[in-house]
This record gives sequence, C-alpha cells and structure tokens, in this order.
Amino acid sequence: MNPGTLFVVATPIGHLGDLSPRAAETLSQVAVIAAEDTRVSRRLLQHIGCDTPMLSLHDHNESQRVAGLLERLQAGDDVALISDAGTPLISDPGYTLVRAVRAAGVKVVPIPGPSALITALSVAGLPTDRFVFEGFLSAKPAARRARLKALAQESRTLIFYESPHRILATLADLRDVLGAGREAVVARELTKTFETLHGDRLDALYEWAQADSNQQRGEFVLVVAGAEVVTEAPAVDEAHLLSVLLEELPVKQAASLAARITGGKRNALYNKALALQKSKSPDPPRVS
Ligand code: SAM
Repeated sequence: MNPGTLFVVATPIGHLGDLSPRAAETLSQVAVIAAEDTRVSRRLLQHIGCDTPMLSLHDHNESQRVAGLLERLQAGDDVALISDAGTPLISDPGYTLVRAVRAAGVKVVPIPGPSALITALSVAGLPTDRFVFEGFLSAKPAARRARLKALAQESRTLIFYESPHRILATLADLRDVLGAGREAVVARELTKTFETLHGDRLDALYEWAQADSNQQRGEFVLVVAGAEVVTEAPAVDEAHLLSVLLEELPVKQAASLAARITGGKRNALYNKALALQKSKSPDPPRVS
C-alpha cells in the first residue's frame, strides 16, 4: 500500500476569492481535512461546495491527533491541513504534525497561498530584502518590552502580529522602546471590507490609533522599519598617517595635512611628526 500525502494548504486571510483553484481542488480530493476550528472552516468549504470530512487539530489536541493522522496517511489516505486563516504553522498549529509526518518518511506537499505577514510586507513600503517575523509579542507587558529591547538594534524590517486587545499597548511599547521617530505601518483587516494601511512615525501611529476606536478593531500586522545602521568611521592611526606623509613631505606640511585629515591640533601633530622624523633619521656617523 502506497502511503498518502499530507497537503499543507493555505486558505484566505479574509477574502474568500483568494483561495487558489489548486487549494480548492486539493481540499475536495483528500480523504480528510484536519482543521484548526471546523466551524470556521465549514464556511470556506461551503463556499467551494466541498463536503470532505473534517476533524479538528488545534493547539490543545495536536499531539494526540498526530498518531491517528499518521496511521491514516500510512494506510494510503491523503490528508489536508488547514488553519482558520492563512498558511498553517505560521503562528498556527501544525508544526508537530508536519515534523512527525516528515520523520516517518511520508510525503508533505505545500499548497501555498495567503499569509498575513507577506501580504502586509508587500504593501508596507518598508525594506523587504531582509525582514524578521516575530509573530505575537507576549501579552505580559514586562516580557513584551524585554523582547522589544532585544530587537532595538535589529536593522532588518520587523513584522509582528497583534490582536485588537493589545494593539494600543503594543504601539505604545514600540514607540517607547524603539523610539518615537521610527517608521512603521499598521496593516489592519487585510483583504477585508475595512482594510486599512496606515504608515507614520511610531508616536504619530499611537496617537492615530488612540484617537479612533475603529482603528483598534479587527486583525493587525505591524511592520516596523529596522534600526538605522550607524557605521562609525574607523579611527585614523595618526602615527601611521604622519609617517606616510613624511615620506613625501617636510614636517610642517605633513603636520598641516594630517590636521586637515584627522581634525586634530596642528601643533600637537607637528611635534609628533618631528619626533617621528627624528626616530627615523639614521644616526650621524661616529667619529673615532
Ligand atoms: N496563519 C496565519 C497567516 O499565515 O498569516 C496567521 C494566523 S494568526 C493566529 C492570526 C493573526 O494573523 C492575527 O491576529 C493578525 O495578527 C494576523 N492576521 C490574520 N489575518 C489578517 C488580516 N486579514 N489582516 C491583518 N492581520 C491578519
């Protein structure tokens, strides 16, 4: 008996039209769909006229579900894994299952599609060449701030998920820890009716969200500019600079040029140059 395949299927993050034809076909063809919340996913399946049986797989039962699903896969059943929205495993259940299925040598196939973090990043207008996905910050203020402090010097674009309950507190912590002037974008209710994209300095973003309770509702991705990289100019080695200049110039000119290059005091550099030249000039021949 050939084993089946575990399909990890991305589903829409709001707009049902974002379910890909391949995802719809896969969901209709597998023997069973493991869904985070079967009530939430029922709506999606109805939308595509799919009556594949579902079973629940969420944070609290994933470990217990793994053995049964692996058995079905090994017996030849194809299984699809979906979450309530977006790509499974991305701040969602599925990691334990995928790891166990791969370890057992059973095929795992991705059916890619929406994910809120990439959707937000693609429209934020902040650097996308390098970024860090931080998922949800802690609900506890001290742990949240500690994590932000650890990220304060991170130069890559930062991406966070946030819930409506904590959006204001998190914006305040971002402002206080990363700095009021840091640029960020709030991406709210992506692909849905009240989709909002608002970018500004962190202090202004907090004020904006606080002033309008509508902006505190729904689902959020926060995209925050990375820290500016401060590249310190390497310190000039005065002695080396002077000895190079002294190879071509008299002491006075070498000192004056060194002062212009380093911004140092001309007199001090003149004395140094003099000392350097003396130390380099050969001893006068001895008279016996
Ligand atoms: N697996 C999902 C994905 O691939 O994006 C993420 C699941 S996580 C439990 C849910 C969080 O994702 C929300 O709290 C919010 O931060 C973000 N999110 C999901 N859908 C969103 C949307 N339409 N607009 C903005 N953020 C969204």
